[in-house]
Amino acid sequence: MAMTRPVIAGNWKMHHDAAAARAFFAELLPELPAGADLTLAVFPPALSFAAAADAVGARPDVLLGVQNIHWEASGAFTGELSAPMAAAAGARLALVGHSERRQLFGETSRQTALKVRAALDAGLAPLLCVGETLEQREAGAAEQVVREQLAAVYDGLSPEGAARLLIAYEPVWAIGTGRTAEPSDAAGMHRSIRRFLEQRCGGEIAGATPVLYGGSVKPDNARDLLSAGDVDGVLVGGASLNAATFVEIARAAS
Ligand code: PEP
Repeated sequence: MAMTRPVIAGNWKMHHDAAAARAFFAELLPELPAGADLTLAVFPPALSFAAAADAVGARPDVLLGVQNIHWEASGAFTGELSAPMAAAAGARLALVGHSERRQLFGETSRQTALKVRAALDAGLAPLLCVGETLEQREAGAAEQVVREQLAAVYDGLSPEGAARLLIAYEPVWAIGTGRTAEPSDAAGMHRSIRRFLEQRCGGEIAGATPVLYGGSVKPDNARDLLSAGDVDGVLVGGASLNAATFVEIARAAS
């Protein structure tokens, strides 16, 4: 079990323009459990990032991140965002390897690894997403797939870099489908991820790395998932778009 405070993260995907981002935080911030021992992280779309940063201000318990970065710091990459630019805008985290990036945009494990390094170089904490498809799970290959996704990133990573990663286990079949992994399934995979980290990075980093669960997390299943062994937080998509719902999920962790 990791010795970290729970992380409740919201991935807005391609939702919420700047006005909606402002309205979300105006509703959310006063409702956050006072003195709660948790970290909240929100990943707005890039065009809403400045509005979100302005709304959050200097609150230390709410971190903002970007949903994607390029692995180069600058250059002729039309439409892309770099990690140093994200850091300069106030991002503290970068989502890397989300299944939608891997599946819909053809992001390879090699590119994911480069993005993790770019995030670290820019001072961002990468939130690395890993997870198997339904086909892979049914073939009994889930743990192997996740270990391979992790190995692609951790191979050659310095201990200092490894110590700054967060991981989200997101079974692809549970994302946006309403189908959630059983807490026992999540605990099993989280244990396997922790074992991988122990073998690669040693007990200290393994124990301190937050490993979040993601996939159709809602207020009514958050508490059970958060109580599952080795689950240090949740990464929430659809249910993070509504401030009241997101606060309910945060309350489940406090
Ligand atoms: C996600 O996009 O990371 C996610 C887990 O989505 P949802 O909660 O909507 O399944």
